[in-house]
Amino acid sequence: MSQPTYVVGHQQPDTDSITAAISYARLKQQQGRNAVAARAGEINPETAFVLDRWAREPPAHLESGRDKQLILVDHNEYSQAVEGANAATVTEVLDHHRIGDLTTSEPIHFYTEPVGSTATLVFEQYAAADVELDSQTAGLLLSGLLSDTVVCRSPTTTEKDRVAAEELAAIAGVEQEAYGKELLAEKSKLGEKSPREMVVADFKAFEFGDSHVGIGQIETVDPDQVLSQQAAVLAAMDELVEERGFDLLVLLVTDLLAEESTALLAGSKTDVVAAAFETTINDRTVSLSGVMSRKKQVVPPLEKALTAE
Ligand code: MN
Ligand code: MN
Repeated sequence: MSQPTYVVGHQQPDTDSITAAISYARLKQQQGRNAVAARAGEINPETAFVLDRWAREPPAHLESGRDKQLILVDHNEYSQAVEGANAATVTEVLDHHRIGDLTTSEPIHFYTEPVGSTATLVFEQYAAADVELDSQTAGLLLSGLLSDTVVCRSPTTTEKDRVAAEELAAIAGVEQEAYGKELLAEKSKLGEKSPREMVVADFKAFEFGDSHVGIGQIETVDPDQVLSQQAAVLAAMDELVEERGFDLLVLLVTDLLAEESTALLAGSKTDVVAAAFETTINDRTVSLSGVMSRKKQVVPPLEKALTAE
């Protein structure tokens, strides 16, 4: 058989990355491709709940993408990809984020749309290929979709996501709102996480102009669990700034019920956050009313402010 193609999501994988990798690899296999679902990091507790609920094994851990064939799902930037991705052959991208720095030597399939989840795009690929979705795969995709869109409440949610969620819930045999609430409860379980683990659990690095920026996010129905430990969390952020040379480190603590975020700040360029959001910094935090989406509401203004310098 030909060399396998690994279908892999971003580092610090979330539920959308994992479920998209499993489901998209399955579609490719049904089309006769030697595709293998993979992951670029540890499974988070919410995703563990989802895999258990839909009786699927976690994808294989890909230590390095070097000299491998890769299909990237749920990301397209080297700074977020599996180690060695810049020395891999990327044959395809399926994503819903901004376009980053990917370059290839051959023409490739590149599917991106500004929808709420990669799961929505995988759902559409099944329809386009006329391949039937079994209830487990539908359950996985529904989980990725509801997790990324905060049960279709995030401003990233589009009509396509709503249509996909409805069909996926029907195939999976669950009620969307009730299942979504179960997922949110899992997402909010911080358990015994140390401040450092809270910062890096859902973390992405970016290059904005010549600035190295890290943005973590904690989505929770109980923000006080994090904010009551603010000093310890900020100390963990300072450590990370030192170790990885970030110019700016932002931790979004997103209140899923109030639909707002508190951002904790570290690094030498925190002033740019005040400028980007036209707000003031108090005690290394800013309140961001109505902000739920890192991708749509935080990355663009920060990138703009940092590249305008
Ligand atoms: Mn993701
Ligand atoms: Mn996603």
